[in-house]
Amino acid sequence: MTSHATRVLVLNSGSSSVKYQLLDMRDGARLAAGLVERIGEASSRLVHTPLAGPDAATAGKKRERTEPIADHAAALEAVAAELARDGLGLDSPELAAIGHRVVHGGLRFSEPTVVDDEVLAEIERLVPVAPLHNPANLTGIRTAQALRPDLPQVAVFDTAFHTTMPEHAARYAIDVATADAHRIRRYGFHGTSHAYVSRRTAELLGKDPSEVNVIVLHLGNGASASAVEGGRCVDTSMGLTPLEGLVMGTRSGDIDPAVTFHLKRVAGMSVDEIDELLNKKSGLVGLCGDNDMREIRRRVDEGDPAARLAFDIYIHRLRKYIGAYSAVLGRVDAVVFTAGVGENAAPVREAAVAGLETLGLAVDAGLNAVRSDEPRVISPADSRVVVAVVPTDEELEIAQQTFALVGDVRTPIA
Ligand code: ADP
Repeated sequence: MTSHATRVLVLNSGSSSVKYQLLDMRDGARLAAGLVERIGEASSRLVHTPLAGPDAATAGKKRERTEPIADHAAALEAVAAELARDGLGLDSPELAAIGHRVVHGGLRFSEPTVVDDEVLAEIERLVPVAPLHNPANLTGIRTAQALRPDLPQVAVFDTAFHTTMPEHAARYAIDVATADAHRIRRYGFHGTSHAYVSRRTAELLGKDPSEVNVIVLHLGNGASASAVEGGRCVDTSMGLTPLEGLVMGTRSGDIDPAVTFHLKRVAGMSVDEIDELLNKKSGLVGLCGDNDMREIRRRVDEGDPAARLAFDIYIHRLRKYIGAYSAVLGRVDAVVFTAGVGENAAPVREAAVAGLETLGLAVDAGLNAVRSDEPRVISPADSRVVVAVVPTDEELEIAQQTFALVGDVRTPIA
């Protein structure tokens, strides 16, 4: 009997963490999932959950270890050891490829790409536009290459889905020579999620992606909106970096750029301090001290004015983007909520579309209150535009894109 290499390991490497999932691409089943955090500290922690696989006895039983894990290489070794305990070792001939989330692919990478030296060099060249993310992603790829040099490593870029944006949406209105010299333009992020969710929305509507226009609202701790026309992204709210656009957990989103000059010239802050202020100490946390929407809603319900104002600013920005992208698309078939806030926070969904009947938008209170992990419509049956909740699954999307690319080269095993 012959079987094939059908497993894909998905790695999402941050500066001090690695998140991973092992999937079987015959049916997309998750075999194991986990994360290593605080890499390089004394209190590093590995949390690993086998979900299915040869050893049924361990399935679903979470294992945690707190011990010093010096670097990404040690982290991946530790992950490999945990997987091996479940009979899912990375030396298995069933492993087809490793798929890596890479945040910035610039203009060059509009598709998932098998990594070679030249691809690594290009990801490295993009470090100046993604100083926090690309170095960590590169470390993850190099570490995985060292562990399994024979295996295809595939880079799946957060920016790729947005490379279809027309120039008039992607360009900032600044001096062209300066912009080009420094690769300054709007790239957008969360592309894997926007791609997955817009496709699943077309499925929910029973249509081909080429037939539908969708506004996707990815509302997690980071948040972004995108306008997707016939399956292609035509605008998105994040820009050169993930700072632009919606109000986020800790990021300001849109702001007059002159605020930064003012903070430097008048408040005497350094560029690094301003960077930290706008990326880490702004958004919901800057406005009310909390960035978790559950906590903010609890405070709103208790009558807390700071939490109320933070919520209102968050919603106001969201509504502006819904209006803007309705105009960008002309015809909107669906407005879709996804990620931690979008999937779970009914009050956010309700407030975001309240009173927008002129745009064809409405939410049914009963449907909006339903809790489910499934894609679902929350607008009334007679609504001109479908409002829906579609849970995102970036790992599955990365695994599918990876497998689609290397499927040809998978090797038969005995
Ligand atoms: P990340 O951007 O870190 O991937 P997620 O998509 O997991 O984030 O979203 C995390 C956020 O989702 C939390 O910060 C919290 O604000 C929000 N969230 C999670 N669960 C709920 C819930 N039940 N109700 C409201 N908000 C929630």
